[in-house]
Amino acid sequence: MDRRTFLTGATIAATTVATACGDTGQEGTNGVSSPAVNRGIRQLRMVTTWPANFPGLGTAANNLAQYITSMSGGSLEVRVYAAGEIVSAFESFDAVSTGTADMYHGAEYYWQGKSAAFNFFTAVPLGMTATEIMGWVEYGGGQALWDELSGQFNIKPFQAGNTGHQMGGWFKREINSLEDFRGLRMRIPGLGGNVLRELGGAAVTLSGGEIYPALQSGTIDATEWVGPWNDLAFGFYREAPYYYGPGFHEPGSALGVGMNLDVWNSLEDDHKTIVQTACRAANNQSIAEFQLQNAVALNVLETEHGIELRSFTNEMWDRIGEISEQVVADTANADAMTRRVYESYINARNQMRGWARVSEMPYMMQRERVLSR
Ligand code: CA
Repeated sequence: MDRRTFLTGATIAATTVATACGDTGQEGTNGVSSPAVNRGIRQLRMVTTWPANFPGLGTAANNLAQYITSMSGGSLEVRVYAAGEIVSAFESFDAVSTGTADMYHGAEYYWQGKSAAFNFFTAVPLGMTATEIMGWVEYGGGQALWDELSGQFNIKPFQAGNTGHQMGGWFKREINSLEDFRGLRMRIPGLGGNVLRELGGAAVTLSGGEIYPALQSGTIDATEWVGPWNDLAFGFYREAPYYYGPGFHEPGSALGVGMNLDVWNSLEDDHKTIVQTACRAANNQSIAEFQLQNAVALNVLETEHGIELRSFTNEMWDRIGEISEQVVADTANADAMTRRVYESYINARNQMRGWARVSEMPYMMQRERVLSR
């Protein structure tokens, strides 16, 4: 941290104290004092896997920090550090596990090297949508399994954002058959990358800021990132003009927070409730924001940049789907914990397929059919 950043942080802290003291002044006549004054200020350092203030991802982390700081009356102050400020994006997990940082905001599938089970808490190919994974984590047994998994690494996990449906990606050449995946060098992390490898492609994992230069230099032929909103921000359309959707690999990617378990255990009950509630609020806001901004950005891509959308054929989906189910099932062989997570996840997904079949899925198709007549 340089001196300027430190001073800015100190100014924010001072402002927070002033606000808290103002509240105390108003409440002083009733003899009630602000928690911030009684407890002092506890600062938490939150590292992220995102570029600073990146739309929807970096800003979700900012929102979460602001909610926790504000809801606690400033007594729990969260400072956000972009990828590379304290540690690089992919070092965030270890930084929190060891206590170098207090918490991270990122995507759990980045930690698949620690355990394959982490994939299920972001998204897996042919898996659950945003609202479905929320249902599983909150009410279908997902959170208890996640607590157990992350607890092995001294981390307490939360959902704190969701990108909604992710697109299939940007390609320099058209993909007209399964053969076109052969030899394709594509940035696609997590289990989606394993599916591409089975199709004969070369999957690479790059953090957000590394993707555009790799496309530009020709190190990669294609990339997926998120959806129209985030993809437009990076300008991928300039290097890889063929945009495929829907994607198969991330049907609703949850963003995750991990807090150092010792830090979590040391928090008083009201602060724990604030952290948990702030994560839920950040989650809801994130889904709402992605839903609207993706629609707006898609229109910009089509009308201002002339992007023509493509979709994978049914034949491609059949093979991709078959491989996806196998790749996801194979993760269960990694260890007993991953098997339990896999079985819980697949059970929940299959239950929710039944509801999807009679609700949003046919409704969307009918709405579109009627309105586009
Ligand atoms: Ca993605």
